[in-house]
Amino acid sequence: MLFVYFFVININGFIMRQYKNLCGFNKLVGFFFFVIIIISISGCSLGDAFVNVFDDDNNSDFGEGYSYIGTSFNYGDGQLPTKFLQNNIFLNNSVEISDTINISNDVNLVDYFFYFNAFSNEDPQYKEKKYYNSTLILPAEDIDYTYEEQYPTVSIDSSGTDFFHVNTYEFPNHRSNYFFNSVSQASNVVCVEGDYIFCSNIYGLGGFSDRAKIVSPNRANKYNFPIIATVLTPTPLGDRDIIGLARNGVPLAQRLPNTKEDYHDLKSRLDEYYGYPADSGYFYFAEPTYFTGYEDASYFFGYDYTYFQDEVDSSKSVSRSDLIGIALDGFPIYGPIEYGIQEKVPYDLDTCRGHVGPTGDKFSNTYHYHIKPVEYIEDGDENFFIECFSGTLVD
Ligand SMILES: [Zn+2]
Repeated sequence: MLFVYFFVININGFIMRQYKNLCGFNKLVGFFFFVIIIISISGCSLGDAFVNVFDDDNNSDFGEGYSYIGTSFNYGDGQLPTKFLQNNIFLNNSVEISDTINISNDVNLVDYFFYFNAFSNEDPQYKEKKYYNSTLILPAEDIDYTYEEQYPTVSIDSSGTDFFHVNTYEFPNHRSNYFFNSVSQASNVVCVEGDYIFCSNIYGLGGFSDRAKIVSPNRANKYNFPIIATVLTPTPLGDRDIIGLARNGVPLAQRLPNTKEDYHDLKSRLDEYYGYPADSGYFYFAEPTYFTGYEDASYFFGYDYTYFQDEVDSSKSVSRSDLIGIALDGFPIYGPIEYGIQEKVPYDLDTCRGHVGPTGDKFSNTYHYHIKPVEYIEDGDENFFIECFSGTLVD
């Protein structure tokens, strides 16, 4: 390595005699190789040196030496908590969600329609899913598949000075390929042998009738949060399936409440925003990319993703340092990247993934969490949003 370094410097010395005004470049190249040498001596690979910006599974880059005990946020400080929550976290506007797909004239949409993603090969049901192949789609299915749904907003009440509760229908305010499972069979589909969409269940090959559906909401679930959130000794997430709510009222789930399946179990079946429906509602299982704008190009290729639009300023575009929701202990939860610092996770997170810092909104310089970047979730990882609760929970 040292040999390579001196060789490059010599070559550069030769070039620089003729292009003296580029000597800054010479120093830059020298410095680069110096860094390489230091990294080599330290025993840390070049890959590690750069990947560690995101890699938090060894606990060496967060949680050690940082504590924010005593920091608090008061939702009722000089204002009505409900008003603050409606203005700064939860959405006020009901929206119509709709999509139309004709899979016979766009092969890219076939993967989306049947939710083949990068993890499909790991799915035990993949053998059956492979029947949903564009070559098997018959002219009978040359129709527009359409759905239209109405997103209902959450409602918020505060009881005295101790806590507020959020009633949510656990319904997304955005498209999901699971909505296609939820619609009735199109009236112009004639079931014939080899029809692999609505009729396939007749032939025992799966089909929409055995897939999860996003059901129309008919009852709200209630979640309680403290009006004064205070950082104390951390509380483990324990066996809690839900750790908080996203801004649209969709629960942030550690596990699916009925089957206890987690991100790893569900990843071959998650929709385009890492959500999944169950009879009791729709949940996010990792970074809700609808709010952060992160797009994995290999996930649903060719699909036209849409992202959260600020209700006040529609020109604002989403970023990975945006607010995504609130934890059950009352502290806000943000995307994985620190506000104002491009491509960097915060260096000073405590053991729960929280810290005090700028956020670019009303929570600036108060305690808040940063979720794990979805692309750095590894096999065996357990917590996908926060590691523990820093504050107290209302039971
Ligand atoms: Zn932060």
